[in-house]
Amino acid sequence: MKKIGVLTSGGDSPGMNPAIRAVVRKAIFHNVEVYGIYGGYLGLVNGNIKKLELGSVGDIIHRGGTMLQSARLPEFANREVQKKGIEQLRAHGIEGLVVIGGDGSYRGAKALTEQGYPCVGVPGTIDNDIPGTELTIGFDTALNTVIDAIDKIRDTATSHERTFVIEVMGRDAGDIALWAGLAGGAETILIPEENYDMKEVADRLRSGHERGKKHSIIVVAEGVCSGYEFARQLKESTEFDTRVSVLGHIQRGGSPTVADRVLASRLGARAVELLIEGRGGRAVGIENNKLVDYDIIEALDKKHTLDLDLFKLSKELSI
Ligand code: ADP
Repeated sequence: MKKIGVLTSGGDSPGMNPAIRAVVRKAIFHNVEVYGIYGGYLGLVNGNIKKLELGSVGDIIHRGGTMLQSARLPEFANREVQKKGIEQLRAHGIEGLVVIGGDGSYRGAKALTEQGYPCVGVPGTIDNDIPGTELTIGFDTALNTVIDAIDKIRDTATSHERTFVIEVMGRDAGDIALWAGLAGGAETILIPEENYDMKEVADRLRSGHERGKKHSIIVVAEGVCSGYEFARQLKESTEFDTRVSVLGHIQRGGSPTVADRVLASRLGARAVELLIEGRGGRAVGIENNKLVDYDIIEALDKKHTLDLDLFKLSKELSI
């Protein structure tokens, strides 16, 4: 391949920029031209495509968001719309595409691959919910944002002897809640992968209070219910009155952490290698700190699994 494209799609995540940088620099290092597709699949269909040079990705390694912009185009599930995208790529002489995004973006990349156009998926989402990789780009940065918030909320919770419910993102996955809850010392973590028992939550809060704990932190994954809904249920069935904090989109922004920059650099570069080797239709990931790649169709058929041992540990440590 002598010309490849790169786009970011779906929800943005901190680390997409270092991933784009890696794609561009790795390709140019191997004398391959790179084209940026601006605005995800929408920009692809509309032909919003520009050649990227070494300098185009200068000074972005530390920036959150994505210099290529992102967009949502539900119509991309339609074969005719996908064909238009492929026509645009072919009109520019682009022979393969790196798609950086989440689950939905992978479905778009899979659809293009099934139509005979080679794509490689790079997992970019804060949710850590992509099958075929243990970590996604943006997860670590989001976690650091969440624990920074938990630490601050803990200060005020301690001063006022309060119970706080903190709602975090993650869509249908509990990874952000679990990792941040464990790292932030939350008393209770609620994840969509495990049912919760309100009596157990209340017993934990009570036993903490009885041994003099001045605060309690409950982390709720958005995939369970809203923080306000959980607080309402808690108040209804117990004596606990809580304050609620919904962290929201701050979790999607900020300068990517070292871990995310390194991960993005490795995965972005590997995606280019695969295209150069003529191995499109793959999804790249990391397992046991080694780069891996799967057939993108197989990758989507796999299920993302949350580390339940970590969940068990979080319960043992927050007695
Ligand atoms: P994310 O990639 O973060 O999961 P979305 O689910 O919004 O975000 O998906 C991003 C984009 O990927 C969508 O706006 C759409 O253009 C494309 N996409 C999603 N699902 C499909 C699908 N089944 N087939 C083709 N394209 C899809």
